[in-house]
Amino acid sequence: MEKNGRGNNKGLPKDLLEILACPDDKSQVKEARVKGKYSLQCVKCKRIFEVREGIPIMLPKQET
Ligand SMILES: [Zn+2]
Repeated sequence: MEKNGRGNNKGLPKDLLEILACPDDKSQVKEARVKGKYSLQCVKCKRIFEVREGIPIMLPKQET
């Protein structure tokens, strides 16, 4: 399952990584691999954020 053309498994630019923050605790996120897929992980709560086509899916937890 490899797609060519948009480099969607390459990861995010470092400057983008630096401005991203966990929506729950505003901590920094780092790159992680989950089942071989490029993802982001909060350094504090260890929550994993999926990255779809180069766009990190970072939604706050729903606690209602
Ligand atoms: Zn967090």
